[in-house]
Amino acid sequence: MRLDLRLADVLAPYGYNGFGVIARARFDAAAPLPFRCDALHPPTRSVLIVATAGPWHWRAFLEWIAVDPITRLARQPHPLDTFTADVFARHVDAPGARIFFPTVDAPLRLDFLKMAELAGIGRPSELGLVLVDPRFGAWLGLRAAIFTPEDLPDNTVAARACDGCAAPCRVPTDPLARRLACNVRPDLAYDELQRIYHYDRPRGRALLCQRFSVADETAAQL
Ligand code: SF4
Repeated sequence: MRLDLRLADVLAPYGYNGFGVIARARFDAAAPLPFRCDALHPPTRSVLIVATAGPWHWRAFLEWIAVDPITRLARQPHPLDTFTADVFARHVDAPGARIFFPTVDAPLRLDFLKMAELAGIGRPSELGLVLVDPRFGAWLGLRAAIFTPEDLPDNTVAARACDGCAAPCRVPTDPLARRLACNVRPDLAYDELQRIYHYDRPRGRALLCQRFSVADETAAQL
């Protein structure tokens, strides 16, 4: 089975539900020289972008933490990144591929927003750094870029949902309120704790630790 279809199956229970492909030629035409496939991973024929949309990834994350809240949350400064690394280590079998994650300690800073756009996952929006996609609304997270030697069917850039929109998102001033005001797929809005975690990390982390009855052991590192 094709890599993208296989991953859509095995990763669905963890909320990884957005997949898009950039063929090598299209990727290289858009990438600066030091970030082209020859530099990043010469055997590449396709770049598969993996995203999460809606609240399901967060809910799977909470279930994952519940297994061992001390190791997976209290002692973990970036638990969401660790969650993705763990899920990928256990479930992603991509022979010959190189995988990049948009993590704080990533060895290379790839432009995930641009890659997602090229892969047909969202477009830059009136919400600044938040991509908006007709299928997923404003509730997207970008999780991985898989440089694979497989030839996968190329995607195209999606329609820009903001074009022609009355833009109710321009009314609020608070960034989260603006995102919540987006009228594309509001049914996919993040859960409340997920929203707090993304927009007010110290408070979100404190609430998360409280939920799992653990003391935050990383407070000094944040
Ligand atoms: S409300 Fe309209 S203009 Fe604003 S982000 Fe959503 S689609 Fe774009």
